[in-house]
Amino acid sequence: MPFLEPKYQKAAELRSSRRPKQLAVINQGGCTGCMVCVDFCPVDCIKTVPGPDPDNPNVHKLVEVDLPFCIGCTLCAKYCPWETIEMISFQDAYEVAPDWTLRNIIEKQWDREPVQVEVERKRRARPPRK
Ligand code: SF4
Ligand code: SF4
Repeated sequence: MPFLEPKYQKAAELRSSRRPKQLAVINQGGCTGCMVCVDFCPVDCIKTVPGPDPDNPNVHKLVEVDLPFCIGCTLCAKYCPWETIEMISFQDAYEVAPDWTLRNIIEKQWDREPVQVEVERKRRARPPRK
């Protein structure tokens, strides 16, 4: 990651082994591409989705949260001037996000949550009960 606010370093490190209670989900229908949320995200997990015209990528650009890196700090939701970011429970965020996403650039966004992989791995490694 190119930027990580020192205060949030620990939370970012723990992210792969501990699920945040909630994740930020952007309702892109209300996003103006103002980029305020990008400036506030302490772990740099909000990505710019260019506009549909490759010659004018800044026109109708949107943003997308890279969910497996969101630490649930709520800053983006608090400061979005258009109130189009909601904090959704971890369980529900991955179901809600595809419905609220008009365009995305992060591949396989909805099924690459590292925490789920981690939990699954631990479950398999547990020895059988006697
Ligand atoms: S602050 Fe809100 S409106 Fe602005 S880019 Fe982020 S989600 Fe979109
Ligand atoms: S809640 Fe928002 S600002 Fe905080 S880590 Fe997630 S996307 Fe970034």
